Amino acid sequence: MKLTILGSGTCVPSLKRSAPAYFLEADGRQILIDCGSGTVLQLEKLGRSYKDIDAVFITHPHPDHVAGVVPFVQALLATPMFAREKDLLFVGPNGFRDYYKSCVASIMGAPKTFSINIIDIEDRLDYPPLSVIAAQTVHSENSIAYRFEHNGRSLVITGDADYDQGIIALSENCGLLIADCSFPGSMKSRGHMTPEECGLVAKKAGAAKLVLSHLHAIPSYPDSERINECRVVFDGDVVLAEDLMEFNL
Ligand SMILES: [Zn+2]
Ligand SMILES: [Zn+2]
Repeated sequence: MKLTILGSGTCVPSLKRSAPAYFLEADGRQILIDCGSGTVLQLEKLGRSYKDIDAVFITHPHPDHVAGVVPFVQALLATPMFAREKDLLFVGPNGFRDYYKSCVASIMGAPKTFSINIIDIEDRLDYPPLSVIAAQTVHSENSIAYRFEHNGRSLVITGDADYDQGIIALSENCGLLIADCSFPGSMKSRGHMTPEECGLVAKKAGAAKLVLSHLHAIPSYPDSERINECRVVFDGDVVLAEDLMEFNL
């Protein structure tokens, strides 16, 4: 598997950090996890294309995680000299099908040359060559985190998540843990983790590598300070997410 961070930011516009989105490749499959504003442009910067995406996994329908879905679907439908043939899959938490119908299909209609399939995931999904496990997070109604497994390697993306036992269990012995680290400890906000809480999840789960993401820019608080806060509890491998950063698993 190869995971690329498309957006390490949040709902707040930033020239440095695009809105939440990740790009996962496994045996030729091309997958987006979340699709915030600007996601298709971030893919272009990477030299990849929205045209080739096979599936989109959504953690929850807050706008910072889904605002790029309509532009993505519109690009697929309206690119001159391009007629997509392969089906497109959307996977989301309970209620996502209804969300898609009312907020995307109502605007874009149904494509003529391919099908869009939508699954409300329960707790797992076989999506060859990947096994996908989902778990409810403490954030909003029906917000979920994902674990992707392939050839004995594993990756967890928490989406938006507060600290709880569920996220620790989902992350057990994972190779890469990408965690919601919205605010420093001094600004703890319910529904998101602090750097120390991210570190505790990584430590208790035995994660091999921790990436702090979903980063709000805080005036007079350097991003790198998050690493120091995290290291108080976690002495493993931890890095700060940057847009277009890549990880091979
Ligand atoms: Zn959210
Ligand atoms: Zn968010």
